Amino acid sequence: MKKHNFYAGPSILSQYTIKNTAEAVLDFAGTGLSILEISHRSKEFQAVIDEASALVKELLEIPEGYHVLFLGGGASMQFCMVPFNLLAKKAAYLDTGTWSSKAIKEAKLFGEVDVVASSKDKNYTYIPKGYTVPDDVDYFHITTNNTIYGTEMRFDPDVKARLVADMSSDIFSRPIDVSKYDIIYAGAQKNLAPAGVTIAIVREAALGKVARAIPTMLNYQTHIDKGSMFNTPPCLPIYSALQTLRYYKDLGGIKELERRDIEKAARLYEAIDESKIFVGTTEKDARSIMNVCFVMRPEYAELEKDFITFATERGIVGIKGHRSVGGFRASIYNAMPIESVEVLITAMKDFEYKI
Ligand SMILES: *Cc1c(COP(=O)(O)O)cnc(C)c1O
Repeated sequence: MKKHNFYAGPSILSQYTIKNTAEAVLDFAGTGLSILEISHRSKEFQAVIDEASALVKELLEIPEGYHVLFLGGGASMQFCMVPFNLLAKKAAYLDTGTWSSKAIKEAKLFGEVDVVASSKDKNYTYIPKGYTVPDDVDYFHITTNNTIYGTEMRFDPDVKARLVADMSSDIFSRPIDVSKYDIIYAGAQKNLAPAGVTIAIVREAALGKVARAIPTMLNYQTHIDKGSMFNTPPCLPIYSALQTLRYYKDLGGIKELERRDIEKAARLYEAIDESKIFVGTTEKDARSIMNVCFVMRPEYAELEKDFITFATERGIVGIKGHRSVGGFRASIYNAMPIESVEVLITAMKDFEYKI
């Protein structure tokens, strides 16, 4: 039975991406070799990384002066790479969840960290407002989508400081004003490709301002100078990323993806708000269009397991909430068809009717 995949990451990929990746595993670009075994220095693979980089630039309308890098180590490696390369004295961070906290922890190894606001007091159910970011910081770090808690900043904050953002779970879901950012990074396994590659969009002029020595592999400049080929890059995930990027372009680009994402999320939140047994966990103005978190109302709480079983019987997988929130989390990334969202909504309604 075809499953409706609501996993948070690794997560659903387009069938286009999966089929083309499967074909390239057998025969890559008519070379008679698998994408798994061809040299990353071959002209065929060079064409893959060049086109992928060009498509990221085109889709996100990245201005001159930025480089698109394909790195290993996951988004978690960026938590230390960012301060290693950019934190000379002081950086500001917004604490909106588990991933932000991890980024803050790493930054503290490199300099002064000003946590300008946190939503920890209410288990990260909102995005702080009304905070001030000092003008003299090296950068202001935000996590645009909080994958675990289901909150999202769907805007580029208006502050004097340069921005750095972890966009692992919502990149390619809205237009971004890249010119406000020094670094945008995103692990691939939410909206792009299988796990193993992380994209970093780096403004070259932001580099070279810290006095410390930076290990070669952790220095963005190394990867800029070598076109993400200083060492062997994760070839297969990069190939898959290219397929997804082509698919995004064919669909109509970021604006069309955003339109679809908003529609899917609106349908699901509407069903939650109309329900007598389910309730959303976040403040409404902070709701994520990528990860929709909800629980059973307290009087029905003992039915959570039953609903998971009920949904599983309909081919719905991956809706169990993260242990720090409980309940349910439906991750409805770009590749998620609205039909699967409708299947979940129908399951919620049928379950409510049944009890
Ligand atoms: C998944 C995720 C991460 C961690 O990514 P890894 O690639 O596993 O290191 C970091 N930040 C956000 C927002 C995420 O969703």
